[in-house]
Amino acid sequence: MSTTIKAKWVNTRKRHYCTGCNRSQPVGSRLMNHVAIFYGDLCNNYYCEPCDEVSKTLDPGDEFGCGDLLEGWQYLEPKPSDWLPRGFI
Ligand SMILES: [Zn+2]
Repeated sequence: MSTTIKAKWVNTRKRHYCTGCNRSQPVGSRLMNHVAIFYGDLCNNYYCEPCDEVSKTLDPGDEFGCGDLLEGWQYLEPKPSDWLPRGFI
């Protein structure tokens, strides 16, 4: 069970990995910074836009591991390949 402390869009100042798809995100990426308490531990995660969209389709309390949201990209409409910058995928 997690409790969200902060969730906001940021333009990154250093490289991060998206927790949802485990893809490297370069400096200047627009990512969702999600800070939460997860089973008593402070977690600070970053999510790319497609993974943030996939996370909205999950039920409250659904848990996922690093990279698990990539599978959900195929169900997004419009397809991420239609709206992500060239080279992202
Ligand atoms: Zn992602």
